Amino acid sequence: MSADLHLHTTASDGRYSPGELVRAAFEKSFKTIAITDHDTTAGLKEGLTAAEKIGLELIPGIELSTIVEQREIHLLGYYLDENNIRLQETLKRLIEARRGRAVKMVEKLKTMGLDISLDRVREIAGSKFIGRPHIARAMQEKGYIKEIPQAFSTEYIGRGGKAYAERFKLTPGEGIELLHQAGAISVLAHPGYLTSGDPVSETEITALKTRGLRGIEVYYSRHTSAQQDYYEKIARRNNLLITGGSDCHGQPGAPNSLGTIRLPYTYVTALKQAAEKTKGKVILAQIDNNREVREC
Ligand code: AMP
Ligand code: FE
Ligand code: FE
Ligand code: ZN
Repeated sequence: MSADLHLHTTASDGRYSPGELVRAAFEKSFKTIAITDHDTTAGLKEGLTAAEKIGLELIPGIELSTIVEQREIHLLGYYLDENNIRLQETLKRLIEARRGRAVKMVEKLKTMGLDISLDRVREIAGSKFIGRPHIARAMQEKGYIKEIPQAFSTEYIGRGGKAYAERFKLTPGEGIELLHQAGAISVLAHPGYLTSGDPVSETEITALKTRGLRGIEVYYSRHTSAQQDYYEKIARRNNLLITGGSDCHGQPGAPNSLGTIRLPYTYVTALKQAAEKTKGKVILAQIDNNREVREC
């Protein structure tokens, strides 16, 4: 009766296809998983079909990369309505921004003497989503780096690095609001593990709560046990939901592999109940909006 609520697939920068991920989770005796690809819901349909067939509970999710003052804050959204128009319009914009940024980074690498082709990066990506890990894999393939993490240094495509390029991102507040209007429960992802800047503080978390944040990812493969305790206390003090996940990208031998986090099912029950209540409220708000439009 355990869950992993933070997983990536080939729809973003993971290596398992949604179907493969569902089967791998089933083999590892998970009852529930959430697919939370970066900035896309493209893997959900295949995941849901596979999960139904095998008898695994699959929660539709997403992970949005947001930015505030050079710090990248990730937000998880659970039980989102995939067909929400505003959500899909924004995701389209984010995916296009990713493509533009990939062009820039490949160009910068070229001027540094690294002969990486955009076509090969696209091929590795295999979908419309292009992330830095795809560029890193192209670099590795050509022998410019030995291990993937080397690409994320300031020598190459690490934040602020020689070949890094920024792209359009939402602020955390905008991300929370976007998720909320799509019926999702928003959860602060890995608050103790930011790729840039200090861990997220309680003051920042309470500020995000005023924008609609509903939970914290307390259990995370790269949180220390001190961080886990710290964020659990913050969640309890502020009446926020607690979630957990590995952030598995399917990379062999990585510390965030499937099975490193087994979240007790009670947390899933609480999340599900919160989502049901929220969905009711969002639908009522939409009916209300329509009424206003008609009355005008
Ligand atoms: P992007 O969203 O395109 O900026 O790429 C960020 C992604 O790169 C993260 O979601 C991770 O999957 C991966 N990543 C970030 N830092 C590292 C690192 N140091 N080593 C390996 N992968 C990383
Ligand atoms: Fe990733
Ligand atoms: Fe993340
Ligand atoms: Zn993630």
